[in-house]
Amino acid sequence: MRILVVEDEAKVASFVRRALEEESYAVDVCDDGAKGLELALAGCYDLIVLDLMLPGMPGLEVLKALRKEQVTAPVLILTARSELDQKVKGLDAGADDYLTKPFAIEELVARVRALLRRGTGEAAGVLQVGDLALNPATREVTRGGQRIELTAKEYALLEYLMRNAGRVLTRPMIAEHVWNQDFDTFTNVIDVYVNYLRNKIDRGQERKLIQTVRGSGYTLKAD
Ligand code: CA
Repeated sequence: MRILVVEDEAKVASFVRRALEEESYAVDVCDDGAKGLELALAGCYDLIVLDLMLPGMPGLEVLKALRKEQVTAPVLILTARSELDQKVKGLDAGADDYLTKPFAIEELVARVRALLRRGTGEAAGVLQVGDLALNPATREVTRGGQRIELTAKEYALLEYLMRNAGRVLTRPMIAEHVWNQDFDTFTNVIDVYVNYLRNKIDRGQERKLIQTVRGSGYTLKAD
């Protein structure tokens, strides 16, 4: 899952980036409202963390423009305690949640997780495809009850495949949701990671869950 963080306070931005990357999200950070809007309109973000007081364009205007352009990604706004009336305006303008600064990073991570879950309509929180299960809260992955150890990137890729189970996912789609803007499109890194995942998820299994769709990309499905 790919997240855009629009925050001009470098300290807060890097702290948020680190925490979200630890959760295996792909993160882009931007310190200017107008640039943030541009990125959000161009990219396929699954969630946006948006500060309100920003150079370039105020967060509230960024939010209104996004909703006007039909960008439906959940938006979590960050407000200073002195901007409480802004919080109400933010919710009215289409924000999904807000956090008042200073906040505990664990709370931000928990809210991000909840917003992403809401977006997929996933109830119990555990993603399940056949006998493969992934718990976003504990980051535990099992197949047939057996624990599977994944690296952060393998986990992020699997989470994206599972959230979109049954859909054909092209390499550009995978790149947009699992890697950040530093991704080099001229490499075969996606195929390499899909192979890593196959070795861990499908090797030795009668039923292969990760399937190649020739000429298109990949899909994960139980049948
Ligand atoms: Ca600010």
